[in-house]
Amino acid sequence: MTKDIATLLLALLLCHALLLVHLLTVRGTVLGRRPEIRLLLLAMLAICVGDLLLMWRQQLSGPLWLLLSNTSIALGAVLLSAAARCLLTGRSFSRCDLLLLLGGAIGLALLLMQGAAYAWIVSWVNLWLAVLLLPILWRVMRHGRERALRMVLVGGLVGGLSAMARAADPHLATQAPVSLLQPTSPLSAWLFLTMSFGAFSIMFGLLMASFERSAAQLEQMATTDGLTGCLNRGATRTLVGHEIERSRRERRPLALVLLDLDHFKRINDSHGHAAGDAVLQGFAQAVRSRLRHSDIFGRMGGEEFCVVLPSTDRSGAHEVVDALRREVEWLVVEQPGAVRLKVTVSAGTVVFDPLAERMTPSADQLFARADMLLYRAKHAGRNQVQTSGWVSLNPL
Ligand code: GH3
Ligand code: MG
Ligand code: MG
Repeated sequence: MTKDIATLLLALLLCHALLLVHLLTVRGTVLGRRPEIRLLLLAMLAICVGDLLLMWRQQLSGPLWLLLSNTSIALGAVLLSAAARCLLTGRSFSRCDLLLLLGGAIGLALLLMQGAAYAWIVSWVNLWLAVLLLPILWRVMRHGRERALRMVLVGGLVGGLSAMARAADPHLATQAPVSLLQPTSPLSAWLFLTMSFGAFSIMFGLLMASFERSAAQLEQMATTDGLTGCLNRGATRTLVGHEIERSRRERRPLALVLLDLDHFKRINDSHGHAAGDAVLQGFAQAVRSRLRHSDIFGRMGGEEFCVVLPSTDRSGAHEVVDALRREVEWLVVEQPGAVRLKVTVSAGTVVFDPLAERMTPSADQLFARADMLLYRAKHAGRNQVQTSGWVSLNPL
């Protein structure tokens, strides 16, 4: 199979330009505003300019074009590296990336000024590109969590190894290379292809990892309460439905607790809304610290929270919730000006035991029962827990 480098280069330029157009079309959207996507766009721009210069080099030959085309592609690699850094650590360019770019460009300029043989120029450029990929690999291995980043690793390895092989190739070939467009061996054309494959894999991997991260962030925002970090009302109600079903299927008890801070309005009224927010955060932290990973903790709205304790019977649930109540009693929220805020909580706990009850309650029924118990706790003097089993036939 003959591989004509000029045709490959044209195909590559079209693919890079297409990706650039795609990145331009998402500008201004949630995805396009992500900093790593902006860096990817700039990387594609630099690579497209490099591709164009490489293609025109046939007509516009000379050391300056060699320097510009290769530096433009190297700049694209550095921008890819900055995009990876931005995605993984929140910071963009590193000094190491910029030094590698500058060092490589100065080395290439010196070689061109001294009129070095084309084989040495090919080696220098390819080693330069291989070295520029190293920070990407290192960052992904150190900080990468997203699955899509595996393809960045594959791309970095394939691209880096191909670039190193291309650096060695001109010295092993029988015929001395004269231009990129006239490969010295079938291997050099293959290496050109695999190197391009590596670069594509890095670009798409970073793009997909960025999608993956925005989707995870949107999911988190849609299910979490921003102030306390608890699940929000919608997510809590959905999970309660699932837990009731699981409890029925596995024939294990389930406790649902509604917690409401006592006289919380007074804190807002006498110390301000910010102090009230700090108390809500302190409360959520105190409760979370006492729960198991399998428990569910959500904010139902205002100063009302919900806890779901799977596989917990009536006496166990009462014990756990009373321990939560005591934990909150001990809680002190420090505020500026040596103000120390204290708060108490009332709770209504309802326990559904599928072994004792044939009818399975709906989530709404369990919430209504827990609410009634909470109301009782408030009326009985607050700072206490009212617990009851779920009995479908007998109202409280
Ligand atoms: P009770 O013991 O009967 O529950 O009395 P309470 O004062 O806690 O209950 P009430 O429903 O009268 O007041 C709840 C207050 O919670 C009123 C509202 O301003 C405040 N609140 C609701 N959401 C927030 C919030 O996100 N931050 C702050 N700081 N306050 C909130
Ligand atoms: Mg309250
Ligand atoms: Mg309330």
